[in-house]
Amino acid sequence: MTSEDKFIDLMKEITAYSETIALINWDLRTKIPKKGANQRSEALGYLAKHVHQLKTSDQMKQLIDQLKTEKTSPIIEKALEECEREYQKYRHIPTEELVEFISLSSQSETAWQEAREKNDFSILQPYLEKLVELNKKFAVYRGYQENKYEGLLNDYEPGLTTELLDQVFGQLKSELIKLVEKVNRSKVNIDQTLLLHHFPKQAQEKFSLAILNKMGYDFDAGRLDETIHPFAIGINPNDVRVTTRFDEEDFRTAIFGTIHEGGHALYEQNIDPDLYQTVLATGASMGIHESQSLFWENFIGRSRSFWQSHFELFKEYAPAPFQNIDFESFYRAINEVKPSLIRIEADELTYSLHIIIRYELEKALIDGDLQVKDLPEAWNQKMEDYLGIKPTNDREGVLQDIHWAAGDFGYFPTYALGYMYAAQLHARIQNQINLDSMICSGDFEPIKAWLTEQIHRHGKMKQPLEMIEQVTGEGLNPNYLINYLTSKYQDIYQL
Ligand code: ZN
Repeated sequence: MTSEDKFIDLMKEITAYSETIALINWDLRTKIPKKGANQRSEALGYLAKHVHQLKTSDQMKQLIDQLKTEKTSPIIEKALEECEREYQKYRHIPTEELVEFISLSSQSETAWQEAREKNDFSILQPYLEKLVELNKKFAVYRGYQENKYEGLLNDYEPGLTTELLDQVFGQLKSELIKLVEKVNRSKVNIDQTLLLHHFPKQAQEKFSLAILNKMGYDFDAGRLDETIHPFAIGINPNDVRVTTRFDEEDFRTAIFGTIHEGGHALYEQNIDPDLYQTVLATGASMGIHESQSLFWENFIGRSRSFWQSHFELFKEYAPAPFQNIDFESFYRAINEVKPSLIRIEADELTYSLHIIIRYELEKALIDGDLQVKDLPEAWNQKMEDYLGIKPTNDREGVLQDIHWAAGDFGYFPTYALGYMYAAQLHARIQNQINLDSMICSGDFEPIKAWLTEQIHRHGKMKQPLEMIEQVTGEGLNPNYLINYLTSKYQDIYQL
């Protein structure tokens, strides 16, 4: 066996374990009987430990060192780079710190739940303080260019710097704040209660399946199931599953949720088969992944042209009270803007402001400019400054998301990055195909083909900024999102 064969074999073994872990994760979040979960979680722990050992093994190190001196294919070259990144990431962390982190974050999640129930941040505070300190150390082990925070950010979004983030978020923030203020002053009244009629689960499911089908989601390589917190998961590129949640009193949860997760799933289903069973058979980054889900959910699913072509189909599945809603009221209602305290309930316009608040706060925590004890007050102040509303308690403030309590810092920016990437791709695709008439005709095949050609098939072969630059001809530019939102809401709110 050559070193290359051994390396390919090692990646196949890692893929096999990762596939098993993904399948167990899907099962834990969808079908598992209540009593089965504990032992299964333990099994998951052993599998994860084994993958970790493979990724940081001496054999891996030897193969990387050996193959770097040889002439290999671009795929092997990129896979080596990726494996080396993972190797460095874990190898430099002292085992006792990693073990401490794993046990601490699980205790912290429990503390977070209790803190939320009792609406008492002080229950979470000591755990969060330790997690911040550990993350500061991890950032140093992983390395960074200018700012320590990049050591964490680059784990999710390789190649991004805080300098670039500060610049694009700064620009986005000031324009969004102005736009939200204009919307608040608008005389246009939107009644979103007209959407809140009972809509039976089975009918919602049928409509969701019809939309997924039209998007080009391959049901021979996936399935749709129900869960509490929806997600899409690539077990392998020929088994990419979507989950959704049905709220019979608000159909938006399932419909827009399914389109969103469907966008993630199309990405994973359309990766180039040459990358299968390598470490590259996944998305380029969390931000690029989110760009795909948001492209489908917002830029298509909440567009006027989408509903022009699908309103009749919607009515075929919807019960009687929906039959008399006129198109314009419906379109406005699904696009209502209302500053709210909870991120996951936020509309298209205010969503990025929720993310920017989290970015500024977590960066300050890692930089040491903000102490954990001062976090709730800092949170509330930013909510008031950016969104004009202030939480009256920490449950609807700093305690709403699990990310920090689970030890995840550097992840939040990827949501807003994905939104900016999506807007930039949206502008680009419009130069190449007549997007609106395509959406109006209900023919999504050319859109899916474009995304596959430009993004999906490349898997993890490219870094996010490299990909955006190649596809759109320029670097990350927040103006596309600002322009898109401005023109959309000028129309809806007659600004
Ligand atoms: Zn998503």
